[in-house]
Formats: sequence, C-alpha cells, structure tokens
Amino acid sequence: MMDPNIFNVLKKEEKRQQDNLELIASENFVSDAIRELQGSIFTNKYAEGYPNRRYYGGCENVDVIETLAIDYATKLFNCNYANVQPHSGSSANMAVYRALLNHNDKILGMNLSHGGHLTHGHSINFSGIDYEVISYNVDEKTGEIDYEKLIETAKKEKPKLIVAGASAYSKIIDFKKFKEAADTCGALLMVDMAHIAGLVAAGLHPNPFPYADVVTSTTHKTLRGPRGGLILTNKEEIIKKINKVIFPGIQGGPLMHVIAAKAQCFYEALQPEFKIYQENVLNNMQSLIKSLKEENFTLISNGSENHLVLINTKESVGLTGKEAEEILDKINITVNKNTIPYDTESPNITSGIRVGTAAMTTKGLNEIDFYNMGKIISEALRNYNDIELLERLKEEVLTITKK
Ligand SMILES: *Cc1c(COP(=O)(O)O)cnc(C)c1O
Repeated sequence: MMDPNIFNVLKKEEKRQQDNLELIASENFVSDAIRELQGSIFTNKYAEGYPNRRYYGGCENVDVIETLAIDYATKLFNCNYANVQPHSGSSANMAVYRALLNHNDKILGMNLSHGGHLTHGHSINFSGIDYEVISYNVDEKTGEIDYEKLIETAKKEKPKLIVAGASAYSKIIDFKKFKEAADTCGALLMVDMAHIAGLVAAGLHPNPFPYADVVTSTTHKTLRGPRGGLILTNKEEIIKKINKVIFPGIQGGPLMHVIAAKAQCFYEALQPEFKIYQENVLNNMQSLIKSLKEENFTLISNGSENHLVLINTKESVGLTGKEAEEILDKINITVNKNTIPYDTESPNITSGIRVGTAAMTTKGLNEIDFYNMGKIISEALRNYNDIELLERLKEEVLTITKK
C-alpha cells in the first residue's frame, strides 16, 4: 500500500499539473507509454556494463532494450555512436569532460547569465572547479552570440574544448561558426543540445553533426522523454573513452527502466507526428511573441527562433523576474525567473522570465490559446494589485487548462 502522505501529495501534484499553464521551457509531458516504462519492472534489474558485456547475469532482455535505445538514438540524430546511460544532462557533460580533458584544462563555454548552463564552467559547479574556464557572451544590443568575438577569444585563449549550447537562448545556434572557432586552436567541439534536441530531431534546428566532435543532451526537454541524459558522437575513439568514463568511471548500474523509456522516446521522435508537434511548438511561440509585442514587451534578441523566449520584465513592466514569477503563479501560470544578458540583479531576483511552448503544445493548445495567454500575462503583470482582475484572469486560465 502506498503511504497516504505520499499519495496525498501525488494527487495534489496531479491537480497542479492539470490546472496550471506550464510555461517552463525545460519541462514537458511524456506519453503514457514512457511513463509506463519508466515505472516498469526494468527498475529491478542490475546491469553494470554495456549490452553483451555485463557484470551481472540475466541481462538478455535489458541488452535488447539498451541496444534498441542506441539504434534509435543514432538513427534519430544521424550519427554513429550513442551512450544512453547518463542519469542526467549534467552527468553526460561530466562524462565528456572527464573523457576528453585533463584536470585544469581550459574550456570555453557560454556565460551562465547570458544563457549558458551551470555545467558549462560556472565557478560553483564541478565544471568550474575542475577546469579552467573562459566564457563567451551575447552581444549587448542584439542579444545574439557574438561569433566574431568567440572566434577571437578561441584564437587568443586556445581552449582544449569549446562548449556550444544553452539553457536560455532563443536564436538558432550556428554550429559551423563554432567549428571555425575550434579550428583556430585545434580545440574539440562539444554541443550540448539539451534544450533543442526535439527541434533537432524533427529537422527544425540545424543538426550539430558533422561539426561537433561530441554531442550531449537531456531527454526530457523538447525531446519529450524520461528525465535523463544522452551522449552522441561519430568517432570511435571518443565513444570508447566516454563509455569507460560513464561506467565504471562515474556511474554504477544503469537505470534500465529509464533507458527503456528513452528507447520509447526516440521511437516516438522518429514518427512523422513528432515533426508536426515540433512545428506546432514553433508556431505557438511565434503566436505568443506576436501577442507580447503588441503589448510592448521587451524580448531578449527581439524574439525567438526556437521553443523559448526571454522577457525583460523590468524594462517591460517595471517588475523583477522574481516578482513576475510570483504574480503569474497566483493566476496558475508557471514560469521561471531568469537572468537576462548583462543583468544587474542577482540570480535569485533577476530582471526577466523565461517562457517556453513545448509543454502546453503537448497538451494540445494552439496558436489562439498562446495569443490569448500573451494578453493574460500582460494584463496580470500590469495590474497585479487588482485582486478582482487577477481572479478573473485565473478563471480564464482555468478555461484554457480544462480544454
Ligand atoms: C537542462 C540542461 C542541462 C542539465 O540537465 P539535467 O538533467 O538537469 O542535469 C545541461 N545542459 C543544458 C544546456 C541544459 O539546458
């Protein structure tokens, strides 16, 4: 029997997920099949090692599962090799660094407050502790990666590895330019496509291959799979090193139930419907942007070419990101505060919020819904002291979520 305390919270969370507009750009809703597999009996199995090279008996079925996951992943992203065992995006990145770098080697990654991820070299993260880090920024005016400066920095600093990829960047990433930067100093190029993997899978964002030496990803963001990580490469010498680092280097037994769910995720992403889903994600984002621009909101890099956009709430409505997040929470809209490039506020306060369309597109919302959402967000943030209005807006949100 399930502990009633746990059961109660599960029910509450179920209601929260049903009654809220989930606009957190890194979240999504997985299929029933993925949930079934992630909660399946594969969780009972120890399978240290790799298919046909295990340290435990009874692995004949999980071997098939992991091989399927690898085959689907390499087909989906058009590459030669995959490791599907990383427990998360962060462990995938750790594995790559440990496989390809020595302690204190230099990496060049995107500044966290300009859209990068903690694991791209932030000082409080293992990446910033174990390696020497230099960062690249976005241009203050355009909000876009300054590729000329990136190339210049690579030439001057000669990093051993360059990391491309971001958690809060709304433009297409030019992998060819990154390769050019890497080639100026013989650096390796790692692309972390955690956020955009679903778009890449659908052919709606350029593929990091053939430019990247190695690609890491999460499986739970736009890719809409179980929570987990993934590493891809075309090079045999690289996958050999990475496999050794993942196990026995940094992980023990793989999460076979999650790997089964990853295989299902890749299978789903190979279907034609997945491309339509991702097209809807992009169209819905454009609709939300149109709505916000009509309301004179300031958007970082003036819009979006993917599934997310950063709103400068301070300039738009005089609110910090923290305040905006809290106000929207009151009317059942879930977003996260987010630093914007050249932010003067701390990461706990911030001057902006990040919103994404991947999750609510999965729930079936269309361009009209997202257009209306822009108006609701604008009204709420401009009139947050009007309790009656907030009540009415919350009712409007509930009408949308009931759909
Ligand atoms: C989300 C994200 C990660 C980390 O994924 P976790 O599974 O949360 O560890 C790494 N890199 C980028 C760019 C991300 O957006």
